[in-house]
Amino acid sequence: MLQKTIASSVSLEGIGVHNGKTCCIKILPAPEDHGIIFARTDLDGNNIIPANYKNVSGTTMCTMLSNEFGASVSVVEHLCAALYGLGVSNALVNVDGNEIPILDGSSEIFVREIMSVGLKEQSKAQKILKIEETVRVENGKKWSSLSPADRFEINLSCDFTKKGLKTTPFSYVFFQDDFSRKIAPARTFGFLEDVEYIRKNNFASGSSLENTVVFDSQGCVINESPLRFENEPIRHKILDIIGDLSLSQYLIIGRYDGFCSGHELNNMLLKKLLGHKS
Ligand SMILES: [Zn+2]
Repeated sequence: MLQKTIASSVSLEGIGVHNGKTCCIKILPAPEDHGIIFARTDLDGNNIIPANYKNVSGTTMCTMLSNEFGASVSVVEHLCAALYGLGVSNALVNVDGNEIPILDGSSEIFVREIMSVGLKEQSKAQKILKIEETVRVENGKKWSSLSPADRFEINLSCDFTKKGLKTTPFSYVFFQDDFSRKIAPARTFGFLEDVEYIRKNNFASGSSLENTVVFDSQGCVINESPLRFENEPIRHKILDIIGDLSLSQYLIIGRYDGFCSGHELNNMLLKKLLGHKS
């Protein structure tokens, strides 16, 4: 499979879900072996932040990347998932603030805008990471693993029963399932009972019912707009996993299994996997 970039640049504007500020991004085509790189255009220098798992500097409620000079960009996961899900290995993302806009809380708008200009196949092959032996990480009851398989698939279970939400396990298979339709539209979600804690800790000041699906204690949606899928939360968790695993900078051939895994475990998994000799 060949590396791809976008055929021409795409610009988007929106608010940051955590800082509440408007910011603009411009996604530009990039040469082979460039990878996905963020550039903070509001900073004078030392502003380049590669989308690499080693640069993950925060995993609370989103994935944050920082470079060695302390420049950071957060909420990268939905854009990274869109790029990875569409098979884009090379792009430069200019951003004029420290957060990628949340837009509608999913990857759908990124996918739509990227596909409106189209993709360009390049001449070099994609870098492949074939899982040869199982790597597993855990944190309390939560865990995730990557095991050998002949394709890239993600199998996730979650337990939101305490939050009044029933969830059945869900799977996504790369190249077999349509990322744009099955995963990209699934929005960020939260629970009404957590809103006070989140706001007190200065997260999600830009969140609203426009970009977050909110469930009450009975598991009912308080947004006026209906769920896009009956199991939208677990699909969004898979979207986040795709964004986080994209930071490996490889096309993964292996099987991801997880239980309640999130940004922190995903990063621990890549660190363990890529720190592994074989
Ligand atoms: Zn997310």
